[in-house]
Amino acid sequence: MTIEDREVVYRPPSEAKSFILRITKGCSHNKCTFCAMYRNIRFQVRSMEEIEKEIKQMAHYYPGLRRVFLADGNALVLSTDKLLAIMEKLHANFPMLSRITCYGAPKDILQKKPEDLVALQEAGLKIIYLGVESGDDRVLSEINKGVTANEMITAGQKVLAAGIKLSTMVILGLGGQQYTHNHAINTARVINAINPTMLGVLTLAIFDGTPLKEAVDQGKFLPLSTREGMLELKEMLENIDVQQPCIFRCNHVSNFLPLKGVLSRDKAQLLSDVQEVLEFLKESRYNQEIFNPKHF
Ligand code: SF4
Repeated sequence: MTIEDREVVYRPPSEAKSFILRITKGCSHNKCTFCAMYRNIRFQVRSMEEIEKEIKQMAHYYPGLRRVFLADGNALVLSTDKLLAIMEKLHANFPMLSRITCYGAPKDILQKKPEDLVALQEAGLKIIYLGVESGDDRVLSEINKGVTANEMITAGQKVLAAGIKLSTMVILGLGGQQYTHNHAINTARVINAINPTMLGVLTLAIFDGTPLKEAVDQGKFLPLSTREGMLELKEMLENIDVQQPCIFRCNHVSNFLPLKGVLSRDKAQLLSDVQEVLEFLKESRYNQEIFNPKHF
């Protein structure tokens, strides 16, 4: 078995201390052109027997465990009944359990009834991580996300209405040079409409084996330079205007400039930091370079 054959288990950075319980393997959508995470994994739903066995094994060693992340890419594709049954087993085995979280694909959220989401919240689902990626319809279509910007807004609002915290991710550079302006302003529009609990900004990494990499190689997708990426971030931030506090993080290893704060409170400071880097880039060798942080 080579390292490429091994199954990598993905989780958000903030779930580093959680028990990662794979209730599915892979992603049932698995069509986003930029995403390499589950490209070589056939989507599977794990049986209750397998899941229960893993829960019991973990409970044997860590009965005081407090956090669980339900993997893989879109755990909410499972029926609400199955999710509730899994959560019940978790509570029965981990009496100190205080938070259950998972990734939620927008299509799966849209298919859940509001009362399903409320039932999941009452059973302990505290945070859903939603990959918004872009708020621009053209970009969403190009990347095969499978939903429109307005559907993304509805999905995000549904999560919050059920009392579940919503952590959204967007990707700088996802529209390439062609759509950078629309990507920036329309992503800001979607974030404003959702007003998520958290917003994480990542920078596009172009991975081998993805349709996006092919498009780059064929000259059909022109990635942003570091400076263009910073200009896009500036435009996005300028247009974000949330009414309720939103924790802002742009400190993923993929980002050229690490930033964090709370929107809208810290918007002026964040913009000033971006401006400072733009000034620095004018004189720097990174100015025209493509920042492709794929080794993380
Ligand atoms: S929905 Fe998420 S995990 Fe699935 S292909 Fe798209 S980005 Fe990757």
